[in-house]
Amino acid sequence: MSDTPVPRDFFARTPEERAIFMHETWCDNCQQVNLGMIEPFEYELHGIVFIEGRCCRCGEAVLTELTEDDF
Ligand SMILES: [Zn+2]
Repeated sequence: MSDTPVPRDFFARTPEERAIFMHETWCDNCQQVNLGMIEPFEYELHGIVFIEGRCCRCGEAVLTELTEDDF
C-alpha cells in the first residue's frame, strides 16, 4: 500500500455531513471533544478516510478518522 495520502473532495459531501464532521472533533491539545474545526481537508491513507483541520479554539491540527459507518 502506498504511504501517500490520496486527497478526497470533502466539499463533495452534503452540507449536513460537512456540518457534522466539522463539529464532531477531538482536539489533543485542548483535550476536549466537539470544539469544531476550520480548513477541513479530506484524504485517504491505508484504506482509511481522514478529515484533517484546525481546532476552532487553539488552531492546532485535529484529525478525525472515519469508520465504515460514516461513509
Ligand atoms: Zn484545540
